[in-house]
Amino acid sequence: MGFLFWRKKKGKDDVEPQAVESEQLVEPAAEESAVVEPSVAVSEVVEPEVIQPEPELAPEPEPEPEPEPEPEPKREPAVVAQVEEISAVEPIVEPEPAIQPEIAPPVEETPEPELEPEPEPEPEPEPEPEPEPEPEPAPELEVVELPKRSFVKNIKSIFTRVKFDLSNLDDLEDTLLQADFGLDAAEAIVQGVRERAKKSGAQTEAELKQILVDLIAENLERSDKALSLDSGTPPYVILVVGVNGVGKTTTIGKLANWLTEGKANVVIGAADTFRAAAVEQVATWAGRAGATLIRPKVEGQDPASVAFEATEIAVRTQADVLIIDTAGRLQNKAGLMDELGKIRRVVEKQAKIAEVLLVIDATTGQNGLQQAKAFSEVANVTGVVLTKLDGTAKGGIVYSIQRELGIPVKLVGVGEQIKDFAFFDAGEFARGLVG
Ligand code: GDP
Ligand code: GDP
Ligand code: MG
Repeated sequence: MGFLFWRKKKGKDDVEPQAVESEQLVEPAAEESAVVEPSVAVSEVVEPEVIQPEPELAPEPEPEPEPEPEPEPKREPAVVAQVEEISAVEPIVEPEPAIQPEIAPPVEETPEPELEPEPEPEPEPEPEPEPEPEPEPAPELEVVELPKRSFVKNIKSIFTRVKFDLSNLDDLEDTLLQADFGLDAAEAIVQGVRERAKKSGAQTEAELKQILVDLIAENLERSDKALSLDSGTPPYVILVVGVNGVGKTTTIGKLANWLTEGKANVVIGAADTFRAAAVEQVATWAGRAGATLIRPKVEGQDPASVAFEATEIAVRTQADVLIIDTAGRLQNKAGLMDELGKIRRVVEKQAKIAEVLLVIDATTGQNGLQQAKAFSEVANVTGVVLTKLDGTAKGGIVYSIQRELGIPVKLVGVGEQIKDFAFFDAGEFARGLVG
């Protein structure tokens, strides 16, 4: 199943963000000199920041294995090609005003049962709850399905050497410990394998591995693992936090690309302002993903002011999603709390924060768990992104994160390329680990 996402319905006269010449991208000089005050007229900011998607990446409608162009609005095999078709060929979705907030002059046909997961009372009939008397009517929303990404093939198996049979279940426990499952979990899993094998008479390695897959999957499954991009009013704001080098910026690029494939308008706020290189890096990813980048006008600009401007622009340009990159260098908890708290405050002046995603590098093992603890204490983390699962078999950390912190792992990173990420799926993950 693909991922359903409510985005703004595009009208014919909606103007796409204007692409700019590439020189404008590489010329921070103008910005630096032009800007001394943090609050510059925003319109001046938007233009130069719009980054042209790289031309060579543009024509990649990437037909995945099964590009059957199902003409009916049935959303089963979430294939990229299909999604693009759905969103490109409006006719399917067009006739049904997915959500009609207040303006809707009594339109008759609001049927489309299959597109509306639930009748959600959120778009209230007329009294718009927002205090600001917005002159423009709230945008119509339509549902799109985003492409499915699979990650199972990239996960390293925990069984590289050990042969797995009933006579060496102790080895299995060691293997699980090495994969960072933690002692309690490792013991419980081995015990579970023993019991189920006895019951079912499983003998072969394949049978035992299936039991192991089932056990791991059962313990990792959570109902709250989906990104919250389906309730409330766009822009959905995603704050991305985590220590340096874990893969925040890379994840943002992947996520933005995935969203723009679903034709979402994505704005990225480069609030990791400390190093110029960090800004350039996120600019590169934004370009690849076809997202609009809001960057600091001077090096070291207050991250919160970048976040503020990014939010302002996302709201004003009716973006679907705003993703904010943050710095991870803060070792000290008070400093971290201050900075993240300030970013949160300024964003919330204009929009709701849909997700605070904490990025954790799976190769750091238990250290990642410590980071998760520290961040969850200050940042109101709503989900974890576990990266670099392609480089380690230490995926057992998912167990500890979900158990000890109660935070769902929502996304995983499985490589350095733009498509190397996926939604966390317990079954798929367990199959990858067991190999
Ligand atoms: P940040 O400091 O948290 O923003 O981290 P970056 O996004 O700059 O990533 C740090 C390094 O990790 C870069 O070299 C990325 O290419 C690499 N990286 C990020 N995600 C993954 C992943 O899922 N797999 C692998 N193998 N490398 C990754
Ligand atoms: P500070 O503690 O005085 O820096 O202010 P805040 O924590 O409220 O906001 C941090 C930064 O976000 C500020 O320095 C501004 O750049 C920006 N900001 C916050 N609120 C506003 C606002 O209402 N208008 C504008 N233009 N910028 C704002
Ligand atoms: Mg970064």
